[in-house]
Amino acid sequence: MTTIGLIGGMSWESTAVYYRLLNEGVRARQGGLHSADIMLHSLDFSDIAEMQAKGDWAAAGEVLADSALRLERAGAGCIVLCTNTMHKLADRITGATRVPFLHLADVTAKAIKRSASRRPLLLATRFTMEQRFYRDRLAAFGIDAVVPGEAERTDVHRIIYEELCRGRIEATSKVRYLEIIAEAVIGKGVDGVILGCTEIGLLISQADVELPVFDTTALHVEAALDFALAAESRAA
Ligand code: GLU
Repeated sequence: MTTIGLIGGMSWESTAVYYRLLNEGVRARQGGLHSADIMLHSLDFSDIAEMQAKGDWAAAGEVLADSALRLERAGAGCIVLCTNTMHKLADRITGATRVPFLHLADVTAKAIKRSASRRPLLLATRFTMEQRFYRDRLAAFGIDAVVPGEAERTDVHRIIYEELCRGRIEATSKVRYLEIIAEAVIGKGVDGVILGCTEIGLLISQADVELPVFDTTALHVEAALDFALAAESRAA
């Protein structure tokens, strides 16, 4: 299989999920002792989070471009950036490397298109919910992503950075997320839910919600496996 290059650590709590799901996916598809061919560059999230908070996206772009280039030089056959938020800087990665970049918003949009949902609620960091880079990318596929109100966005963002990225899974936060979803169904007419931050799947899942749930981490993993294993069968 093609070596999957992961840019991770943002946070490592979700990168660990990528690692497990990629390996479980290869086992499910190939059986036996098969496991995924992965190269991981895991960044120190404290540095990245500081750049995000300061709005120093240029510096963060340098870090990501450098990481992607190092993975490519080391033999990765594709790049998977294990965070929705940092897709704001996807161009910095594609501009620095030649191997395919598996864009998370494209993967998510294609999954939504396969469902009946066209107006999903986007739960994510404040950057992903409030800036245009992610919603515009979904809109290019005909997906009109809706974000919660200001107070709700504050809670969604805080729970990601103060709890999920630190390995804290709180029952009260799960209740808050489900409340925000229920409010958006009534108040905004949403017909699906995008877990648009790679840690949210640690807190809620399809089992908690009646509407279709699009877990970006799981979708990204499936796309990476499709790519990496298809390349193998092409070569065979
Ligand atoms: N992993 C998160 C995401 O998918 C948030 C952390 C980050 O800002 O990278 O957006």
